[in-house]
This record gives sequence, C-alpha cells and structure tokens, in this order.
Amino acid sequence: MATEQVNCVFCSIINRKLPSSIVYEDEDIIAFMDINPVNKGHTLVVPKIHEQYMCDIPDETSQKIFPLAQRINKNLRRLSEASDSGIKLEAVNLFLADGIAAGQEVYHSHLHVIPRFKGDSFKL
Ligand code: 5GP
Ligand code: ZN
Repeated sequence: MATEQVNCVFCSIINRKLPSSIVYEDEDIIAFMDINPVNKGHTLVVPKIHEQYMCDIPDETSQKIFPLAQRINKNLRRLSEASDSGIKLEAVNLFLADGIAAGQEVYHSHLHVIPRFKGDSFKL
C-alpha cells in the first residue's frame, strides 16, 4: 500500500482527491498529464509511494519507471504518426529533478516525459 503525504499534490492525485488526466496506473505507479505542460503531451511518471528522492523508492517500483516511460514514448510516437495535424514528434526528453537544488518543485519523486517538436527550441 502506498504511503500518503498530506498536502502533496501527487498523493492527492493518486488518491483521487485532485483531478488529473491519468494515462496509466497499476498498484505501484501512475502516469498523468502535466497540468502546466512545457510541450504538448508532457507526461509525468510517478511512483505511488511518497518519497522525495529516487534512491528511496523500492526496487520493484523503480524498475517500472523506465519501461513505462518507454511505453509512453512509443504511444506518443504512434499518435504523432497517426495524426494529420502536421505536427510530428521529433524527439523526447526524459527529465528528473532529484532534490531542490536540481530544480524539484513537487517533493514526490517523478519522471517527466517531454515530447519535442521541430523548432520548439527550448533547452531543459
Ligand atoms: P518538478 O519541477 O518538481 O520536476 O516538476 C513538477 C511538475 O508537476 C511541474 O511540471 C508541474 O507543472 C507539475 N504539477 C504541479 N502541480 C500539478 C498538479 O496539480 N497536477 C498535475 N497534473 N501536474 C502538476
Ligand atoms: Zn506524495
């Protein structure tokens, strides 16, 4: 059973106290769309256990993070290829701020999956 931290937005999302657009969920891990996306399709992969740092996440959960990011990446590519919008996914950034000095703003460990499009021209 995942721990819950009061006043943690991601725990609130996991426990359905806050709404979000969930794209995947199992007993250990969840993925939902970022509320303030830096690019279309920006998704967060979040262990359900409340831990600020990745080194504190149990192995059986952390082993699910990369494969889920990979599935999201594949689906974003598939969606982009199927779309007739003309906006094609060119690349993907994976980003994880592990601690405040690294830029972490939500203190519940999470991995960003950020689609990149030709000419979007920002640097992480
Ligand atoms: P960090 O800076 O900690 O790596 O990233 C935190 C991310 O969480 C940011 O991209 C921010 O937009 C996202 N975020 C913060 N609050 C919420 C929320 O209530 N819902 C969702 N879906 N994302 C959030
Ligand atoms: Zn939390």
